Amino acid sequence: KKICIAIDGHSSTGKSTVAKQLAKKFNYIYVDTGAMYRAVTFFAMKNKCFNENNLNESCLGSKLDEIHIEFKQENSSRLGEVYLNGENVEAFIRSMEVSNKVSQVAKLEEVRKKLVEIQQQMGKKKGIVMDGRDIGTVVFPDAELKLFMTASAHIRAKRRFNEIKINQPEVSFDEVLANVKERDEIDSNRRHSPLKMADDAIKIDNSNLSEDEQLKKIVQLVQE
Ligand code: C5P
Repeated sequence: KKICIAIDGHSSTGKSTVAKQLAKKFNYIYVDTGAMYRAVTFFAMKNKCFNENNLNESCLGSKLDEIHIEFKQENSSRLGEVYLNGENVEAFIRSMEVSNKVSQVAKLEEVRKKLVEIQQQMGKKKGIVMDGRDIGTVVFPDAELKLFMTASAHIRAKRRFNEIKINQPEVSFDEVLANVKERDEIDSNRRHSPLKMADDAIKIDNSNLSEDEQLKKIVQLVQE
């Protein structure tokens, strides 16, 4: 029986890595909700709703109807890439600049409302694995399996740093560490849908787990 798997947790805990592995193994649809918040952030930047790092909320609020977000399959890969108003924005949304701004955008109630609706629509199809911050608490409170991933901030920043230094060699480890901590702080303390573990979620601390050990453990949970 195909189920809905909700994966939440702190920044850079490898949620999307596991989610992609599960989607592949079980032939499920994978939805990266962080990519949606990042795409809205990219839109806000392009539309000059940021003054340096400060978001002008009414600027973005007045333009929300102009934002169209969807996932489309590129070539034969089954993993969807995120499109903003018809343009594939995958290449832009993982930059440090977007990472430094996205949590401000994700604080806005209207933004969340819009994206949660799209996510719930996509979830009507079973056999879905979705990762984010509020999937088990808000988007799919009835998900059959909920995971909450965490690890020490230092370990997370190190993994993230190793990943992004390939494309963004100018970014320092300290910058990555600061960003990971700052996003957790804003995401956990915001008023609307703060990041928190659902009561019925299973906590996975992967500070000392290899990717293989983790996958094995989670695959077992899916099959239970
Ligand atoms: O998952 P990722 O790290 O790409 O998410 C980027 C940011 O988007 C998070 O730090 C958070 O501010 C926001 N987010 C959210 N709710 C989600 C997914 C992401 O608030 N479901």
